[in-house]
Amino acid sequence: TDKLLTVRDLQVRFGEGEGAVRAVDGVSFAIDRGETLALLGESGCGKSMTALALLRLLPQPVGHIAGGQVLLEGQDLLALPEMRMRQVRGGRIAMIFQEPMTSLNPVMTVGRQIGEVLAAHKGLKGRAARARSVELLGLVGIPDAGRRVDEYPHQLSGGMKQRVMIAMALAGEPDLLIADEPTTALDVTIQAQVLELMRDIQRETGMAMLLITHDLGVVAGMADRVAVMYAGQLVEQASRADFFTEPRHPYSRKLFAALPDMDKRDRPLTVIPGTVPTLDQSFHACRFADRCASAWRTCHEVEPAWLEEADGRGVRCHLYDPAHPNPPAAGSEAE
Ligand code: SF4
Ligand code: MG
Repeated sequence: TDKLLTVRDLQVRFGEGEGAVRAVDGVSFAIDRGETLALLGESGCGKSMTALALLRLLPQPVGHIAGGQVLLEGQDLLALPEMRMRQVRGGRIAMIFQEPMTSLNPVMTVGRQIGEVLAAHKGLKGRAARARSVELLGLVGIPDAGRRVDEYPHQLSGGMKQRVMIAMALAGEPDLLIADEPTTALDVTIQAQVLELMRDIQRETGMAMLLITHDLGVVAGMADRVAVMYAGQLVEQASRADFFTEPRHPYSRKLFAALPDMDKRDRPLTVIPGTVPTLDQSFHACRFADRCASAWRTCHEVEPAWLEEADGRGVRCHLYDPAHPNPPAAGSEAE
């Protein structure tokens, strides 16, 4: 396989035993070099937990990986000693978060923070590290970088701070950048600038991106492929073109139907009535059944399987599964 990253049947649990919550339940996807995969879904569906699991940064002590593989060019990161994993984090795989203030150190200058990454992953120190930091700040579009490099995070605007986060992430020259809602906290104009910047940098460096978002507009502008997540599972995977032409899963379709409201970008996406089920080990049904207009009895009794076509397009829904009886015609079934 020449995929950069291959995730197979990833399982994340919160808690132990029978009552453990399956926060990520059998997620599989792959990312090619230079490619952008968008992980799309509402907050709380397991997107961030998937990303944190890839880097083995799950919230401790309750979150843990209960199974699966995370292969970086064939090497399973879940089996690496922590020492080696530290070289992967910020080196081969970097991550940026929605809230730059929670990730930047308030008592350290911007230059020193970038310098730490350069020292850890590029062996650069002193003047060489400073020069490279200034260069990176320039690359992410921070004006007057030679002065800004000595400033503290609180001296920068929100958009500038997010650019600093991107500069830090780029410092290790990663093969893969994981960006978790990287622009959600920014106003719309700055958001567009930062996304454009990320696209430019990707074009120049050839790095791959896993872009976590609840925003179909971001998917449309950035992604090569889309993986839709719901209640800890992937429910659809498609090329961007296929997805926008014909979203298949009822949940995906609802995301499109909800689009006008999604212009209110500062609000979480909670436009679909109903709540995500709490998932303990005894749950056997389609997880979307209580919110799905197409649901029939089978949906409440049998968990839909992942159905994948030769081109990698996939969906998890009984409507597309020839193994299950077709849904009853509207109105014919009195439950
Ligand atoms: Fe809806 Fe049934 Fe498909 Fe689930 S399996 S998404 S309930 S039609
Ligand atoms: Mg999240």
